Amino acid sequence: MREDFPILGKSVNGHPLVYLDSAATSQKPRQVLDAERDFLTRSNAAVHRGAHTLAAEATDLFEDARTTVAGFVGAAPEQLVWTSGATAGLNLVAYAIGNATLGRGAPASARFALRPGDELVVTEAEHHANLIPWQELATRTGAALRHIPVRDDGTLDLDAAASLIGDRTRVVAFTHVSNVLGIVNPVAELVALARDAGALTVLDACQSAPHLPLDLPALGIDLAVFSGHKMLGPYGVGGLYGRADVLEALPPFLTGGSMITTVTLDSAEYLPAPQRFEAGTQPVGPAIGLAVAVRYLEGVGLPAIHAHEQRLAARMGEGLREIPGIRLLGDAAGAERVGLWAFDVEGVHAHDAGQYLDSLGIAVRVGHHCAAPLHRRFGVTASVRASAALYNTDDDVDRFVEGVRGIRPYFGAGA
Ligand code: PMP
Repeated sequence: MREDFPILGKSVNGHPLVYLDSAATSQKPRQVLDAERDFLTRSNAAVHRGAHTLAAEATDLFEDARTTVAGFVGAAPEQLVWTSGATAGLNLVAYAIGNATLGRGAPASARFALRPGDELVVTEAEHHANLIPWQELATRTGAALRHIPVRDDGTLDLDAAASLIGDRTRVVAFTHVSNVLGIVNPVAELVALARDAGALTVLDACQSAPHLPLDLPALGIDLAVFSGHKMLGPYGVGGLYGRADVLEALPPFLTGGSMITTVTLDSAEYLPAPQRFEAGTQPVGPAIGLAVAVRYLEGVGLPAIHAHEQRLAARMGEGLREIPGIRLLGDAAGAERVGLWAFDVEGVHAHDAGQYLDSLGIAVRVGHHCAAPLHRRFGVTASVRASAALYNTDDDVDRFVEGVRGIRPYFGAGA
């Protein structure tokens, strides 16, 4: 399989590359690159508009891609809105709710309108993409933003969640898997709490979609987002999944061409979902590439990928725990995980640690990984993060652990 990913054969700083930064962006197999190139060289035309044969061919390929990607998350094609990525999807939802609050949309949109005293709930472990749009929505509408705390072991405090989520809660937005802690969050429990409160649920599935079987309707979630480039797909494309009744009632965010039925100089009427949320020219080639990426993941098998990555995570965790001065963030015993660990190196700044690993050809991410509040909660400003994907091997993990063992001695910070 690794031969499908030409970049994995590369040498970096005189060493064969060990790529452990897939949580930031995954590598892409040849099949995905070929699919995009084939589309552009053989079938490229503006979708949904042209009356010519090529336009019809491009439209079929684009809509087939929607069916494939929707099916990957257990959904029907009309439940999948193309976006440019997870950040765009989360902003779409937050701004659509803001528009409902302004009285925009169909009569059914009123169910999303926020009133003074309403609350939006996130977790302390959110990526900024699933935090700042809610901060902005709270500021614009006067709603209050609350958060579910993370316990010392990296799990969510469900007791706190149970007392926090109540009559005032209108939205519960949370990540399926934190991009820092790697722990699979208890979606069913949070959905049950939100349902009892009559709140809308929004799932950030960026770090779960490429790593474990995902059936969004079965999870009972109302809305969910993911990013193509993190799941072997191209940049510039992502998905927003929605329950049919929720997408149907949600007002649009971006407006313009391709999302309307009739337009006068003073007003416009909008298409049903998903087109209502797809104003302007869509990322057609990337969407077709993403369909090939999810077929690739399905070909390997999500249960097999999850099992493989859990094994890599366990091997990595065991190796790292033995190294003096390494503190893993979110080392909950027995937690279901993806292949990701973030950690602090005592006495060495994360950026120095990352540079040292890079000198050995090992690519990891350093910094706050767009989750500054979570780092603050663990008393650090930055961490080193290693994140695996289906193409990583035991040998990658062993070279990484050996590399980490060398960090503190190299910087004279200890054994
Ligand atoms: N949520 C999580 C958990 C992420 O890891 C990321 C990407 N780092 C995002 C959201 C944002 O994704 P994108 O930048 O592709 O929009």
